[in-house]
Amino acid sequence: MNAPSVVSLVHLGCARNLIDSELILGRLAEAGLVVSGDPSAAGTIVLNTCSFIGPAREESESRIRELLKKKRRGEITNVVVAGCLVQRFKRTLVKRFPAVDLFAEISDGAALAKSIRELADGKKINRYLESPGLREPARDAARMLSTPKSFAYLRISHGCDHVCSFCAIPAIRGPHRSKRVEDLVGEARELIDAGVRELVLVAEDSTAWGRDHGLELPHLVETLADLDGDHRLRVMYAYPNRFPWELTRLLRDHPKVLPYLDIPVQHISAPVLRAMRRAGSGEQVRRILDRLFEEVPGITLRTTVLVGFPGETPEHVHELETFIRSYRLGRLGAFGYSPEEGTTGNELAERVDEDEIDVRLGSVLATRDAVLEANQKELIGRELEVVIDQAADADGEALGRTWMDAPEVDLIARVTGVGAEVGDVVKVRAEGLDEEYNLRCTPVESPA
Ligand code: SF4
Repeated sequence: MNAPSVVSLVHLGCARNLIDSELILGRLAEAGLVVSGDPSAAGTIVLNTCSFIGPAREESESRIRELLKKKRRGEITNVVVAGCLVQRFKRTLVKRFPAVDLFAEISDGAALAKSIRELADGKKINRYLESPGLREPARDAARMLSTPKSFAYLRISHGCDHVCSFCAIPAIRGPHRSKRVEDLVGEARELIDAGVRELVLVAEDSTAWGRDHGLELPHLVETLADLDGDHRLRVMYAYPNRFPWELTRLLRDHPKVLPYLDIPVQHISAPVLRAMRRAGSGEQVRRILDRLFEEVPGITLRTTVLVGFPGETPEHVHELETFIRSYRLGRLGAFGYSPEEGTTGNELAERVDEDEIDVRLGSVLATRDAVLEANQKELIGRELEVVIDQAADADGEALGRTWMDAPEVDLIARVTGVGAEVGDVVKVRAEGLDEEYNLRCTPVESPA
């Protein structure tokens, strides 16, 4: 049996939740616990859960059951469940999973680490940790980074003021609160000094940053980009409404701001967007994308769409697929709608049958793949910059990304015959594609 003071964390969910996981790991180490990256070596396992849609919720619950099986078999001593599932379903989980040793709502991890320390020391603890109220948008200090030093996420705000009718996130993460510039400069400085090459700005709605302080996102992006260092900035989770157009100048001209934007549109058909309670019509979304392509030539856009929302018809799906093709949106994530307790969408009639949702999702993903393949094929023969995320393995293949690819969600570049380190930027020639349209590349210059 592994010592209960050896703790491992299993992370589920998005980049914002990953920062929470890294904060928890940092707190655990500060509490003098041994943090292990290998769950099979740990006596205590922390599961940081996700619950924003059905499949994510189900995965969190099945992972809890798996961990409780390990506990019954005596492989581990303590099971700790934290994160969005607890924040959303609160003490109902205590009844459903009585064998869990500790539940913790979302927080900065300090109280959680203290309780785990006491648990590991065999002390009696309060098994349910409530979050101490709305999380202060404070500095995320002393995270134990879990990403390679080629990139790290930087959360710029908490929560969301939008009312998208399919989304449970505002109920989990609360209303929008921006982190202060000086805190973000401090965090960015720390990451850049730690050798992190790419800072990936994340939030529920990045484009709302600063509005509660009388500022706008471009101010923050320029401030972070102007910091000393050879870092790059990437903006994720922009909202296609009230867009801070000053940002395009930075995306186009600033050498440290990547000409890339993640802007989830969710759909394009006006009646569906209305039912989703999304601000902005399909026309407005098209105008925003047109202006982005115009003002930032060569920009790479990533987006996310939701298929199968109540009232959606095959014609609406056709309109969405035409939109994906005409705007060449190859870097696209798609989800099937799942009715979420507590969301206004859950009350809507005209539900789309689950099998039909799967059919529509398959069709949208096939459309995306065709666009992606065509986009990637155009890169063959071109010289590109690739940041290395994983140094060469025994077969001599290193893994990285072009600046057109965000970590963990977009494509990778396979580079053979390069002796580069993680975080290095290498000039490559794209020679071909693998079966998932990732680039196969060879180096044309030594690493920068
Ligand atoms: S913008 Fe909409 S989908 Fe995104 S977190 Fe906010 S409510 Fe959810």
